[in-house]
Amino acid sequence: SDFRLRDVDTEETTCGFCAVGCRFEMYGTGGEYRGVEAVDDPSDAPANDFSTCVKGKFGHEFAESENRLTSPLVRDEDGDLHEVSWDEALERVVDGLTDIQDEHGRDAVATLASSKGSNEEAYLVQKFARQVLGTKNVDNCARLCHSSTVAALQQTVGYGAMTNRINEDIGEADAYLITGSNTTESHPVLATRIKRNVRDGADLTVFDPRKVEIAEHADHYCRTEPGYDVAWINGLIRYAIEHDHHDESFIERNTKHFDDLRGKVDPFTPEKVEELAGIPAEEFEAAAETVCTADSLVVGWAMGMTQSSHGTQNCLALANLALVLGQVGKPGAGLSPFRGQNNVQGGGGDMGTLPGSLPGYQSVEDEDVLDTFEEAWGERPPDEPGLKVPEMMDEALEGNLRAMYVVGENPALSEPDISHAEEALDELDFLVVQDIYETETAEHADIILPAATSPEKEGTFTNTERRIQRVRGVADPPGEARQDWEILQDLANRLGYEWDYGHPREVMAEISDLAPIYGGVTYERLESGDQHGLQWPVWDEDHPGTPYLYDYEEGEFNFEDGKARFVPADVQKPGEVPDEAYPLTLTSGRVLYHWHTGQLTRRVEGLMSHVGESFVEIHPETAEKLGIRDGEYVRVESRRGDIVVKAEVTDRVGEGTVFIPMHFAAGAVNELTQESFDPTSGIPEYKVASVRIEALGME
Ligand code: SF4
Repeated sequence: SDFRLRDVDTEETTCGFCAVGCRFEMYGTGGEYRGVEAVDDPSDAPANDFSTCVKGKFGHEFAESENRLTSPLVRDEDGDLHEVSWDEALERVVDGLTDIQDEHGRDAVATLASSKGSNEEAYLVQKFARQVLGTKNVDNCARLCHSSTVAALQQTVGYGAMTNRINEDIGEADAYLITGSNTTESHPVLATRIKRNVRDGADLTVFDPRKVEIAEHADHYCRTEPGYDVAWINGLIRYAIEHDHHDESFIERNTKHFDDLRGKVDPFTPEKVEELAGIPAEEFEAAAETVCTADSLVVGWAMGMTQSSHGTQNCLALANLALVLGQVGKPGAGLSPFRGQNNVQGGGGDMGTLPGSLPGYQSVEDEDVLDTFEEAWGERPPDEPGLKVPEMMDEALEGNLRAMYVVGENPALSEPDISHAEEALDELDFLVVQDIYETETAEHADIILPAATSPEKEGTFTNTERRIQRVRGVADPPGEARQDWEILQDLANRLGYEWDYGHPREVMAEISDLAPIYGGVTYERLESGDQHGLQWPVWDEDHPGTPYLYDYEEGEFNFEDGKARFVPADVQKPGEVPDEAYPLTLTSGRVLYHWHTGQLTRRVEGLMSHVGESFVEIHPETAEKLGIRDGEYVRVESRRGDIVVKAEVTDRVGEGTVFIPMHFAAGAVNELTQESFDPTSGIPEYKVASVRIEALGME
């Protein structure tokens, strides 16, 4: 291909790690990535001004790793990989997919899109699935992170997204309720804003089983029992109503079904909260008073709430709380799910890489929507929801799903109960992986296609505040590696579809034609200089974008009558509870220096020098009972598998709870996690599993 960026030296772009969406200047010379610097003018960086975190600043070096894939690879019958030409690799992909679909039907193939790639690429992955392959099976790893948030917010307020802005609202709130979010390590620049505001007098309340760094700055830190969050959230709602801190006029004006909610939360007295969630009643009441009396409150959450077998219930409860307090649609307030990956909002949701939604969250079962897509694509998209990621694994094991096309995802390490996922991948007749490294998933692939990464890309990312921002590359993909959109276009052409995009801007033009919430998004506007990103919905070219999704006075919730819905949530037991054989509760999460399955950050020496291997945090009393010393290696075992990691004895976790980070392949926590799923969203329960630990006596 001729699509090269060789002459580009400095570009303003968007960070490729987390969904805060920091902007900075990126440098490259001779087609290679060199580094990043702060922007000259902070208005060019709406989410971060001049700040970046260690990952944004140093982490993009992964692009220059010597382990990058540089040539298409094909596996022979002995399991060995061989370099082949693009022509040969793509012909084999075409033959492999066509043979399987001819024999087993179109839905015998599934695709996985990436939340790290651009909006344009994600759009093309689902178009490739629905138009070219004609399969209904398309999903992405957002299934594993905030799918329960999306499900809950769609039921209560309408859109499955953050209601407010990072800088102006999260940065300026009077108070915060943060739960299930290790904000400092997962969203560092966002955490800095919050801490700065707390230093200036804002109140911070943190509910979490682990005393995460941001909790060190809190006015109230309530340690919770993993898995029983609805208890304390319902307890807060009950407290608000009992003490008349609820916003009656807002509830009256803008909501429905308040009486149902009132009845449901009534049993959750402080004593009941203590019994279920383990928070001493007095501590709980003090925290409740602060949360329920704030002038403006940001409710922020992440995986600790969502990755649960009742994740949707947790998020419904949080939405109910914000609505009861009238903390939506006004400055300094809002429902703020902290999305994880750089483009999980866009590529993992807005672009329709979901089994039930076409781009712009339009239902695959809506005939009018299907008509519009049929007219644009010349093919009618499949009209029923496809498989979710965990269902894909099950169907592969059953022999019903025969092939997968995986773009920039690593299910062999990111799925719960890894051995189950690996068996499923091995069971497939045909697996294609398009990625930048030979990931754990690529080890199971028949064909590996080398792709490009963020410092090499043109496109857009949508951050956690729904802000669509330009991404510009400064480096060329190494060797024979190609842009993801070009690979998909080449395949679509070979399969008889005339895709003819010359640049991602042409893909965005198609997105804005088909997804009304992106209706007014054009590269011209994103590049105009006075508009640094647009927050969706952007209905047309004259629409300025939408800083607040809803309005405190008028409601304007995304339902026909404009009213929000209270949907009462209930406490349910986690999928596994401690017992005599496995007496400890395992929870998992992140560390500052690494990213997700570690494919990017484990290749950066500067980051590995800070945290170079997996570990388990154990409370001093638990450690003493088990005879475990700080720094020694221990075996952690669940009903699914066992791993050996180093013990870190610390009171960051509570007694009886242990924590292991999720970024390492050696000592992978997902060997241990369990396969209970939230029935509504299909999200796995990564945050609660029962384990036992034995000391190995090795330093
Ligand atoms: Fe990148 Fe997130 Fe760090 Fe900002 S906070 S520099 S977006 S990783």
